[in-house]
Amino acid sequence: MALLRRKKKVVEEEQELVVSEPLPELSDPPAAGPDGLRVMEDHRDYLLSMVEPLPALGMNLLDAWGLAVCEELDSPVDLPGFDNSQMDGYAVRAADVAKATPETPCILPVAGAIAAGDDGQQELPEGQAIKIMTGAPLPPGADAIVPVESTDGGAEQVTIHRPVTAGEYVRRRGSDLGAGTRLVTRGQRIDARTVGLLAAAGIDKVLARPRPRVVVVSTGAELVEPGRELDAPGKIHDANGFMVAAAAKAEGCQVFRVHIASDDPEVVREAISDQLIRADLIVTTGGVSKGDHDVVKQVMPSMGACDFAEVAMQPGKPQGFALIGDDQVPMIMLPGNPVSAYVSFQAFVRPVVRTMMGVEPINHTPVPCVAGSVMHSVKGKLQFGRALVTDQGGAKTVDLVGGHSSHLVGDLAACNALVLLDEDTEVVKPGERVMVWMLDD
Ligand code: AMP
Ligand code: MG
Repeated sequence: MALLRRKKKVVEEEQELVVSEPLPELSDPPAAGPDGLRVMEDHRDYLLSMVEPLPALGMNLLDAWGLAVCEELDSPVDLPGFDNSQMDGYAVRAADVAKATPETPCILPVAGAIAAGDDGQQELPEGQAIKIMTGAPLPPGADAIVPVESTDGGAEQVTIHRPVTAGEYVRRRGSDLGAGTRLVTRGQRIDARTVGLLAAAGIDKVLARPRPRVVVVSTGAELVEPGRELDAPGKIHDANGFMVAAAAKAEGCQVFRVHIASDDPEVVREAISDQLIRADLIVTTGGVSKGDHDVVKQVMPSMGACDFAEVAMQPGKPQGFALIGDDQVPMIMLPGNPVSAYVSFQAFVRPVVRTMMGVEPINHTPVPCVAGSVMHSVKGKLQFGRALVTDQGGAKTVDLVGGHSSHLVGDLAACNALVLLDEDTEVVKPGERVMVWMLDD
């Protein structure tokens, strides 16, 4: 286990000594199996044991959209706050129009008009009507609204063609919800409808966990930013940086994307150090397997306490984790093949950011499906097949999309699920039950 080599200056007898101050190691990693591989769930739970929910902040309602609230909020008011009209029409006493029919309409003098926003103090004289707009307060004395469609729409006097019952088209105070009603519970993620509910109750600030600031770093001397020319043979466009950044955004993170087109250890070290100031989490792709240029794996032990593991999964076998810098910023190092990076994101990064956000459920919930066609898997590893789930009248069917190779971004883009073929599975026959992770829920 690597120790942090943070240095501390000590002045002793006018001599400046530099001593190494060991920082905490990572907790003991889970045991690997006889094949030297770590079980996917064990690795995930290990990472989760080393991160914590971000401290909650008071924030503006709109900024809290998509975030988990950290308080219970009750309505300070009744909704609606006062009796008001549900229609554009005329406020009346129901008894005054009880006999109105198309053949024998009631004709009432119009005593005034009330719009939404008016104070609602104007009293309805007996035997008269007051013109009223939707949302305007019900005038004292009135007990029903005649919709304008049931009248001639008159301004001085109104001809009413049908009766209304007491209370008809009146929205009563508190009929939506009463003061004291629980609006949100701790841990609830605030969606647009809840934003609307809180706003309606006059609440403009909530205590919520902030968006994790995730710095996504792609590494590799072969990488060129999309939009730029591949200026030499052997170069490829950086797919991972964008894909992982987008996946982190989809989880609600605030994302910064950094592109390191180099396998030079010093360049990588410096570029990652520069990011520590703005990161709650760093996610790198590339450079963690066994190649000569797997620079992330070479460099990180000098920056923090690291764990490198081989996980019994395919794709996504090589995985790294570290706590780096003075603030022990967590860092997840994903393999470079795009499908490996994406699957690893779903398996490890997603649960970590959801833990930071305080959002449940932390892990993907496996969904049962019926295999539509034959599926092959390697024994001893959890195989994540790129798959397409279709819903045929209630029964979900799943089919693999393309092959198992980790460079197949076309197939990855065409799938909507990952099918989980466990360590003991070698073949799944059509009609058998398999579990999937849905990717776009
Ligand atoms: P590595 O894990 O660095 O050995 O990379 C494994 C494979 O993934 C190599 O074929 C790399 O060229 C490719 N790769 C690494 N990073 C990226 C990236 N950001 N976008 C697309 N492919 C990548
Ligand atoms: Mg590489």
